[in-house]
Amino acid sequence: MNLHEYQGKELLNSFGVRIQRGIVAQNADEAVAAAKKLTEDTGTGWHVIKAQVHAGGRGKGGGVKLAKSLDDVKTIAGQIIGMDLVTPQTSAEGKRVHQVLVAEDVYYPGDSEPEEYYMSVLLNRSTGRNMIMYSTEGGMDIETVAEETPHLIFTEEIDPATGILPFQARKVAFNLGLSGAAFKDMTKFVTALYTAYVKSDSSLFEINPVLKTSDDKIMAVDAKVSLDDNALFRHKDLAELRDLREENPIEVEAGALGLNYVDLDGNVGCMVNGAGLAMATMDLIKQAGGEPANFLDVGGTADAARVEAAFRIILKDPNVKAILINIFGGIVRCDRVAQGVIDAYTNMGNIEVPIIVRLQGTNADIAKELIDSSGLDVHSAVEFQEAADKVQAVLA
Ligand code: GDP
Ligand code: MN
Repeated sequence: MNLHEYQGKELLNSFGVRIQRGIVAQNADEAVAAAKKLTEDTGTGWHVIKAQVHAGGRGKGGGVKLAKSLDDVKTIAGQIIGMDLVTPQTSAEGKRVHQVLVAEDVYYPGDSEPEEYYMSVLLNRSTGRNMIMYSTEGGMDIETVAEETPHLIFTEEIDPATGILPFQARKVAFNLGLSGAAFKDMTKFVTALYTAYVKSDSSLFEINPVLKTSDDKIMAVDAKVSLDDNALFRHKDLAELRDLREENPIEVEAGALGLNYVDLDGNVGCMVNGAGLAMATMDLIKQAGGEPANFLDVGGTADAARVEAAFRIILKDPNVKAILINIFGGIVRCDRVAQGVIDAYTNMGNIEVPIIVRLQGTNADIAKELIDSSGLDVHSAVEFQEAADKVQAVLA
């Protein structure tokens, strides 16, 4: 589960990580009130207005703007809220902005150049340990840095038994070229950041940029926080931060039905049990000249109710021209699935796309018999290739 920048910053702040202060606003008037409050508290008159959407690269898309007066705040917030923000990380349609973060300007105009760094915390899957990845090249695409100047990216692996040790925090500050008060502040920053990552059961922190202000303070100016869904049960407060407006509505609905569904761009819907078989099925569809419209794992219990739910989800996508059902009857018997398909088809009554069903495993022969004698526009297949050929035939 991803958090908005403002939520991520609040989480970091609660663990003692210094952040660029800000207040979230739903409309231009709230933005002005937020800016006034920040000015009273900190005294800087300039603010940055930042679109709150689950996508990076907002600055490049015009979703992060500097406001030098309250009038600016009102105008800019009014422009950003309601816009469809297109960034290098969104689709061409962009993402609708519902709220902005009004933040204090921490780049202190007129002062010497502030320094920006990159820092993330994530799991290194090859060693099974968390690591801190950091770079002097902040504010840039880390992918570009990795490609063009990989020697400027450092990593520090953390032993889960000890957590981050003081010498490791000092090494980070040293590699970033810091000294004096900024050096000390960075050791505190990185230690608190790592602690926040572990305590919140996160799967990714990406702070780009981390800023060194001209008065040597280290703070998070941006925050991308991804929480581990499997640990959310022990973070009820964080689970409540979920913003469904940021997610694909069909995926949300599928999730509520216990279906593992990912929306894709193609024309062949697939319904499969097991993620591995689902991947193989998508390959099969491509080989047959189609494009998968979705990834859908119905799980182990492919009964009539689940099959019907899955049909409804798949058919919400208007691009679907055919549905391929590929079920291995291991725990569930194929004839039960076949009956489920027939029942769901009959119940729904309005399925207009052809369906190819490949059932393999226990009672596959009975299942094929059921499908073939059902009189519905459902084509049975036993072998993988046979299913691919039938997909090809109905698409032609
Ligand atoms: P992203 O583009 O989605 O990654 O959003 P960021 O939060 O990283 O903001 C984009 C850029 O805006 C940063 O790299 C900064 O250079 C700039 N920025 C952010 N906060 C401030 C600020 O307080 N003052 C000024 N002048 N620039 C800022
Ligand atoms: Mn950023």
